[in-house]
Amino acid sequence: MKKTFIILTLLYASATYCQTDPKIYDIIDAISEERLKDDVKTLADFGTRHTLSDTISDTRGIGAARRWIKSQFDNISKDCNNCLEVFYQKNFFEKGTNQRIAKDVNIVNVVAIQRGTKYPNRYIIMSGDIDSRVSDPNDYTSDSPGANDNATGMAGTMEAARVLSKYKFESSIVYLGLSGEEQGLFGGQGFAKYAKDNNWDIIGVLNNDMIGNIKGVDGVIDNRTFRIFSEPITTDETDAEKLARQARARRFYGGEVDGISRQLARYVYTTTKTYMPEMNPMMVYRLDRFGRGGHHRPFNDLGFAGIRIMEAHENYTQQHQDIRTENGINYGDTFEHVNFPYCKKLTAVNAITMASLASAPPAPEEVSIGGIVEASAKLQWNKVDGAKGYKIYWRDTTSPTWDNSRYVGDVSEFTLDGIVIDNFFFGIASVGNNGHESVVIFPNGIIR
Ligand SMILES: [Zn+2]
Repeated sequence: MKKTFIILTLLYASATYCQTDPKIYDIIDAISEERLKDDVKTLADFGTRHTLSDTISDTRGIGAARRWIKSQFDNISKDCNNCLEVFYQKNFFEKGTNQRIAKDVNIVNVVAIQRGTKYPNRYIIMSGDIDSRVSDPNDYTSDSPGANDNATGMAGTMEAARVLSKYKFESSIVYLGLSGEEQGLFGGQGFAKYAKDNNWDIIGVLNNDMIGNIKGVDGVIDNRTFRIFSEPITTDETDAEKLARQARARRFYGGEVDGISRQLARYVYTTTKTYMPEMNPMMVYRLDRFGRGGHHRPFNDLGFAGIRIMEAHENYTQQHQDIRTENGINYGDTFEHVNFPYCKKLTAVNAITMASLASAPPAPEEVSIGGIVEASAKLQWNKVDGAKGYKIYWRDTTSPTWDNSRYVGDVSEFTLDGIVIDNFFFGIASVGNNGHESVVIFPNGIIR
């Protein structure tokens, strides 16, 4: 009798902290390849979605495209008792702002907010881009279907809204269509500033830019691997004294590969490995592709965590190209090159990451570490509202992922017996009643 009782207790304990959440598998299954296909087709059929293109026509140009995207969000909202707040957010840019703003233009983003039940001002954001381009970045009239770049990211964002709007989450989820990407990341700049001006507490931005190509320009075909780009640390370049202080801290205590965007990248990695083990998430330790840009950067510029999710193998004959045939190669970013089973998988990666983060309590803000010239590392942190307990993570200093962890319950400090501070990196996450965890926070203070 006594034995049975002990076994049951152990089972209960593991069910509380370690079990996966069945809801997350339902979300993966609910993402529809067919709807993604329809939406990419519709977006490509607007002819061009160039930022400077026609805004009057109902069938061609970026105006028609953004009105259609807004109507989709409005329909999704109708299906969930008006659970989305749908609106345009725009900024005006004068001709000559840079070389690619060849005329005065309103850069208009489409926003849909699914308000969190417990933390309405905490936001996890998924973004895709509305705009497209051909070979000449200022050619706003030629056909520019932008099927992969970036109708896939936009369609994925709308599809995530369809699926996640059937659930309620503690934190807010934002489905965001950004414009002006190809002209110089203007939509992201405008929206990041809007979020900052409105004091948004942003958990992170998942920027999706090209999530539908599986055949690289070199012929490699891979429908399992995808990339997660993240900058190493977020820096406020305007405060020289703070920069120097942070650089000094990194030199003696570490943290050069542990910025907030990097922790978000690790969160995507772990969530994918847990729930979609068939996929190969590949973290890339840089802001973006070499010398190239994306819409997570303007958020990083304002100190927000943000990453880029995208295919592993790019095909440059199908990006930013006039539609043409040359030496037997079909150039152009057209619908038939997009692989929808893959696009569905990457959309699911976003949806489950957002569902997990929006179900989790906030992470502690103040985390201190100690144990210098001692046998055991110590951690201290502030408790947060809504956490059932906390989990300490650690890893070898050369490892990219949080390989070791220990759930320590509802306490605000803990000593890891026999784990020497010098030999590992440490972090801490909050755990909710439902088992969902916050991102890991790297220590920002020292216990003296
Ligand atoms: Zn592009």
